[in-house]
Amino acid sequence: MTTLRDIGEFGIIDRIAQMAGAPPEAVCQGIGDDCVVLDVGGPEKLLATTDAALESRHFDLAWMTPFEAAQRSVAGALSDIAAMGGRPFLSLCTSVLPQSDEAQEALELLRGVAETARRYGAPLVGGDTISGINHYLIDLVVLGWAERPWLRSGAHPGDRLLVTGSLGGAATALGLALNEPARLKEPRFSELRSRLVDPTPRLAEAAILARTGFVHAAIDISDGLYQDAGHIARESDVHLSLEAAKFPVPEAALVAGELLPLRAPWWAATSGEEYELLLAVDPECVGLLTSLLQEHGLAPLTEIGTVRQGEGVSIVREDGSEVEMERGGWDHFRPPTTWPS
Ligand code: ADP
Ligand code: MG
Repeated sequence: MTTLRDIGEFGIIDRIAQMAGAPPEAVCQGIGDDCVVLDVGGPEKLLATTDAALESRHFDLAWMTPFEAAQRSVAGALSDIAAMGGRPFLSLCTSVLPQSDEAQEALELLRGVAETARRYGAPLVGGDTISGINHYLIDLVVLGWAERPWLRSGAHPGDRLLVTGSLGGAATALGLALNEPARLKEPRFSELRSRLVDPTPRLAEAAILARTGFVHAAIDISDGLYQDAGHIARESDVHLSLEAAKFPVPEAALVAGELLPLRAPWWAATSGEEYELLLAVDPECVGLLTSLLQEHGLAPLTEIGTVRQGEGVSIVREDGSEVEMERGGWDHFRPPTTWPS
């Protein structure tokens, strides 16, 4: 008997793509990228994405408020618009609410959806509300625009790999929440906690970088740097080499990492839900792109690797040795990644 675990999340998506058949002519990019890209006439392409967050799977109300749970769910959906170099303009939300007498919790969650969507320029204009299961579920559809959408398939050998912001903060915050919940409340870890409950979709950074035309390919890190790099490698038909020593891991995450059963550098490479952007860019323009974001006071850009001919993704360890993982990130249908020694 074949199990869903055998096929894995991405095998399932491949099968869905076959079942779906050819998309309508207006679809320039269908299943397989962060958003669907549509040509609706006019100078900009229309972007569409949907992202669901389930209580107990994606968020836990034991250590985040309902508002925060909604906030991070909406940020996750908006992050896919940033991954295309786009700007969001509206959203629709399907909310599944448990049948309960407790209105306050549900209303706080719904307020979180509406306020976060508005805060990032994608006001809520529709959706659906149903009851029935014992967990909250939020499914957000976001529409956006992009003049020249960044695809996962645009990387060339010779490109440099840049990442926005930092890596590993969400992983260590989650690790503390699960293993050392009292410590997550310590002020020295508040920055990590906000990475988990209030991640910033990199929309402002995407808007500025997209104008330059120097970004060749992009993806947002929602399943772990290593795995998401693998999507660029596969779609662009290239090899990505990531340098562990260059990963921008914040100091607080290093401190928290010492308290947890995490092994560097693997956890920074496999940490999902960081919602940073991994970009393959013109090698001549690294300095220019980095200073542009700096001038605007936005998230820093760090060069973490290179694109070359070949396939797959490797990590260069601090001692210079290069390794590949069989899998490196989050798959909804498979057990967690195991790290090479
Ligand atoms: P992301 O992590 O960027 O949100 P996913 O890994 O969830 O992307 O999905 C990968 C691709 O598969 C996307 O193009 C998405 O639209 C598509 N996809 C995922 N699930 C389904 C589904 N149930 N039906 C159709 N397309 C899907
Ligand atoms: Mg994505």
